[in-house]
Amino acid sequence: MQRQSGWRSKSKEDIKEIYSFAEGYKAFLNEAKTEREAVRCITGALEAEGFGTDPSGERVFAVNRGKEVMAFVRGSGDISEGLNIVVAHIDAPRLDLKQNPLYEDVDLALLRTHYYGGIKKYQWVAVPLAIHGVVVRSDGETVDICIGEKEDDPVFLIDDLLPHLSRKTQDEKKLGDAIDGEKLVVLFGSLPLTGAEKEPVKQYVLKVLGDAYGMTEDDLISAEIEIVPAFKARDVGIDRSMVGGYGQDDRVSAYTLLKGLCQVKNPRRHCLAIFTDKEEIGSEGSTGIKSAFLHVFLDDILAGMGIRADEALMRKVLFRSKALSADVNAAVDPTFQEVHEKQNACYLGRGPCITKFTGHMGKVGASDANAEYVAEITRLFDRSGIMWQTGELGKIDEGGGGTVAKHLAVHGMDIIDCGAPVLVMHSPYELSSKLDIFETYRAFQVFFEA
Ligand code: MN
Ligand code: MN
Repeated sequence: MQRQSGWRSKSKEDIKEIYSFAEGYKAFLNEAKTEREAVRCITGALEAEGFGTDPSGERVFAVNRGKEVMAFVRGSGDISEGLNIVVAHIDAPRLDLKQNPLYEDVDLALLRTHYYGGIKKYQWVAVPLAIHGVVVRSDGETVDICIGEKEDDPVFLIDDLLPHLSRKTQDEKKLGDAIDGEKLVVLFGSLPLTGAEKEPVKQYVLKVLGDAYGMTEDDLISAEIEIVPAFKARDVGIDRSMVGGYGQDDRVSAYTLLKGLCQVKNPRRHCLAIFTDKEEIGSEGSTGIKSAFLHVFLDDILAGMGIRADEALMRKVLFRSKALSADVNAAVDPTFQEVHEKQNACYLGRGPCITKFTGHMGKVGASDANAEYVAEITRLFDRSGIMWQTGELGKIDEGGGGTVAKHLAVHGMDIIDCGAPVLVMHSPYELSSKLDIFETYRAFQVFFEA
């Protein structure tokens, strides 16, 4: 059972191929910093690979509210035998602007945020930030905003206290309490509008927004503006063997899924790739995996195949499906090894981690995959020469977590978590191994073709 670094069995040529695959991945991370941007990247790539929106086609995709994508590749088999499904999520922890975010204080314009997903708040202060999102103007026009990504763009910052003065206010507090959620306020400007009596700095930034985007302060009420790290994905390590970047949970799965699906030609079983939203806040809402979009999409697919999609057939299709819940797991942390039980943990550079169950405090909230299904998947990977490992999310009672697996398992399908190990998960700069990224891509491809 003792596994070792996967790099040891990779040749120079293999490493070249693995590194070249990571170039596309880094570009994806830079282009897709929000779920909406991920949808645009994914649909663009799908169209380039011959996918279309006509449900009677062989390669079909559909978009839900600009935040979720489903893509289908028709197989040669009977669809009532079920689908091969891989599901990844394209939302990531971040800060959202509040609906009434803008104010002026001490001659500065500031924006209030409400954090999204599980973040360690102290990691988001004193780092360069970018602003991405959409504004729906009063004239009905939707405007995309993206500031802080181009070389000459300004960036934004959340203030932190200097160490000289933080003794009582921060240092004596518990780490988790040191930065209050309401203090995650973005510095937005400092120039006063000439001639303005009241709130001249606020008036000035509103003028800038009005000139650039034709928007007013009222338009912020409906806007969806996300604050994300401004830095780019880059190679990490003197040997360039790792990738550092924001949003790798779970865009490492999304990218490898996209690439894996595009490689699939004439499969036996029908293939479905799901790029879902809202996983980080419990998969709730109209664009999360719990919404009816899955059924609506499959209704259209069945109709496109000339099959009447009655409820009994839909239930059967989902019940007989086999799925991978493509999500990351926590790689053994070199400096905090004590949170892992290292015999049952995943390591960077040993391939995707197959996680039989997630949950916390005695598997509560877990989807626990069947022995038969675990064996089916591990044997498939072995047969196909895919490097893989198995691991739990941390020590018993240390914490825990969940994925979308349980929300699809309710349909009765076989499903198991499988994804690349990630270090510094949920931080502004997550880390993954190029080997794991590549093996995960191959794993998804062979799963679809099985
Ligand atoms: Mn995830
Ligand atoms: Mn997550």
